[in-house]
Amino acid sequence: MEDGCRFNTKLLHGKTSAGYRQREILPPVSQVTAFQYESMEELEKVFAHKKMGYAYTRIGNPTLTAFEQKVNDMEGGAGAISTSSGMAAITAALLAVCESGDEIIAGSGLYGGTIDLLHDLEKLGIHTVFAGGLTRAEIESRLTKRTKVVFGEMISNPALKVLDVPEAAAAAHEAGIPLFVDSTTATPFIARPLSLGADVVIHSTSKYINGGGNAIGGIIVDGGRFEWDERHTALREFRKFGKAAFSVRLRTDLWENLGCCMAPANAFLSYTGMDTLGLRMERICENADTLARALDEEEDIQVSYLTLKSHPYHEYLARELGGYGGGILTLRTGSRERAFRLINALHYVRIASNIGDVRTLVIHPASTLYLRSGREETEAAGVYDDTIRVSVGIEDIEDLIRDFRNAVRVSRNA
Ligand code: PLP
Repeated sequence: MEDGCRFNTKLLHGKTSAGYRQREILPPVSQVTAFQYESMEELEKVFAHKKMGYAYTRIGNPTLTAFEQKVNDMEGGAGAISTSSGMAAITAALLAVCESGDEIIAGSGLYGGTIDLLHDLEKLGIHTVFAGGLTRAEIESRLTKRTKVVFGEMISNPALKVLDVPEAAAAAHEAGIPLFVDSTTATPFIARPLSLGADVVIHSTSKYINGGGNAIGGIIVDGGRFEWDERHTALREFRKFGKAAFSVRLRTDLWENLGCCMAPANAFLSYTGMDTLGLRMERICENADTLARALDEEEDIQVSYLTLKSHPYHEYLARELGGYGGGILTLRTGSRERAFRLINALHYVRIASNIGDVRTLVIHPASTLYLRSGREETEAAGVYDDTIRVSVGIEDIEDLIRDFRNAVRVSRNA
């Protein structure tokens, strides 16, 4: 890492964890709506951004700041803004750079909620063109004068397509367009998209960053390197801030007005949860790899996981992911009925619509997360009628393997 220490040390002792007002070792939870001042003049200065300070939690809160600085530090960003959810983060980031008539180029195989959001944005006149794996050729053939952003997922959920960030960033930058990357499933432990060339990184912190399954949240991290020019009409009033135009627009305008701030208690839970991100990710990736290999031995189950040589994006493991395959794997069982039987036969594994928890979770995505998506989009996301998504946790691997092997056997007997 750039300041001399390694991942876990930086998480715990990075430059933003220097202590707080009363020397607390963790950021206190400022569970308040508003902040009081000695004089009206002082509050006026805070509102006018002429004095540092907090006025109202929707437009800033010290617990949120502590969490934002921690994620920003781990991603190597120039500044971060936390949000009420991952979806709020994606919405705010896209609306900051797109207005009616503008276009987004998005990778296919995105998380179902993001696909739904992109459909919602059509009603505001913001059009999305889907572009397979966001290769240079795919991006270049979809660029128009109205393209304002290229958006992709670092490791897509659950298709497990890996974004070639240097290639996508180069193609976008040559056209004067930024690359936004949802890195929820990779986390800064596996990849840091800003260091690979991306301009903005987004997370649903509800997942791996929090890790304990106890707080919904999101975050937008700005790399602060992109040159916003006259093409970026949504930022016209903010271009005077140069490379900070995107962050300033979000912080002082859109984020405030959308009212999508993270709750202070959630910022605290996400902050403390993140302390163990490195340990959890190491264990999760090791468990996912061992489970994938064990289930790959079952003749009638098709396993998709990045560390398996059969995976189409296997080569990216060494190139971009530091050898780690992440915590998601998918299983194809032959039929929807068998997928349901297998899920229902699991003993330790919970049936729940989440990923990144310390507990292993499973879901049948076609009947839940992709209920509103069309067949083509669903299949591009690697989701078929017989697909099960597994979000691997930190349990003892012997128990997980035994549980899955038993459920595979039970599911065979209709
Ligand atoms: N991005 C990805 C890759 C996700 O998996 C999810 C949720 O599953 C989201 C965004 C949305 O996050 P949230 O549920 O926090 O709104």
